[in-house]
Amino acid sequence: MQPITTKLLKWYDAHHRILPWRISPSERAKGRIADPYRIWLSEIMLQQTTVEAVKPYFNAFIKKWPTIKSLAAASQDDVLRAWAGLGYYSRARNLKKCADMVSDIHGGQFPSAASDLKTLPGIGDYSAAAIASIAFDLPVAVVDGNVERVITRLYAIATPLPSAKPAIRAQMQALTPNERPGDFAQAMMDLGATICTPKRPACVICPVNDNCQALKTRDPEFFPVKAPKKDKPVRLGAAFVAISPDNEIYLQSRAETGLLGGMAEVPTTAWTARIDGNTEIEAAPFPGTWTPAGNITHVFTHFELRLSIYKADHIAIKSGTGGWWVKLDNLHEEALPTVMKKAIAAAIPDAFTKRRKPE
Ligand code: SF4
Repeated sequence: MQPITTKLLKWYDAHHRILPWRISPSERAKGRIADPYRIWLSEIMLQQTTVEAVKPYFNAFIKKWPTIKSLAAASQDDVLRAWAGLGYYSRARNLKKCADMVSDIHGGQFPSAASDLKTLPGIGDYSAAAIASIAFDLPVAVVDGNVERVITRLYAIATPLPSAKPAIRAQMQALTPNERPGDFAQAMMDLGATICTPKRPACVICPVNDNCQALKTRDPEFFPVKAPKKDKPVRLGAAFVAISPDNEIYLQSRAETGLLGGMAEVPTTAWTARIDGNTEIEAAPFPGTWTPAGNITHVFTHFELRLSIYKADHIAIKSGTGGWWVKLDNLHEEALPTVMKKAIAAAIPDAFTKRRKPE
């Protein structure tokens, strides 16, 4: 084992983070093994999201669906509803598809090899490596953003990302031991999350500061070097918050495929990642006394969306004409993505903060 690996495992034994999906080193020593379902669920949730944001969602999912088979038996709508707020809804749809496949084709057992895991919906290179390593203790290099930062600093890799990725992976693979590879991957992640942070890394208490090339340059924050970011394109559109005489709000479903597929929304104009939608009040989906209710901005991975929000009270169209009415009290039960929650909150500021009674 390389000295860096040994030091990091020792540090991990004493300082690892307590996470609801994690088996601690002491539990592992007593023979407890990781549950691939929990590791998979956490890894899919953690894509593009922080540990703190994921914890309550993870706990709620596990309470509701404690096994992969129970998740497979759930409806897609229920899964989307439980996922609402985590963003990137294609991941929730793939989560369900993956649960179905593991349940139907693999008899409820995840395959262990990264190459087999990658054949499942929603599992890419990173997730496959993380599950193979953490759930099955296989010596595969796991490289997330934290690990990228630690490796580029340890070896002072000055090639900008993403060109530096192959070199980072090679170094991580060289450090990954055959014994306790899953704990080692988690040790690197924890070091990046708690000590080797993007700003002001705590090098004084770092267990591998003797081995760190970036520290010798006296400017560890210089690493990792990133290629300059391109500005995100801005797209425009409008959203219409219709309220009924019974204090209900009108929702409809987005198309099954594409951005936010299958999620609930208030009626909006036809914006996409590539084209603007109409922003004018005249684009309202049905007659009413529409009034401007402000603007919201939401940043997606590839573009920024700016929506003009309009509101109308006393709208009296029927459910079933492409949408449905929901009591404001029950809005939290709908699979509303964050952008739609922002749109509704612009028109009804307390829509998600306090229980409302019908007027
Ligand atoms: S010494 Fe500092 S820069 Fe180097 S790995 Fe440790 S925390 Fe990161």
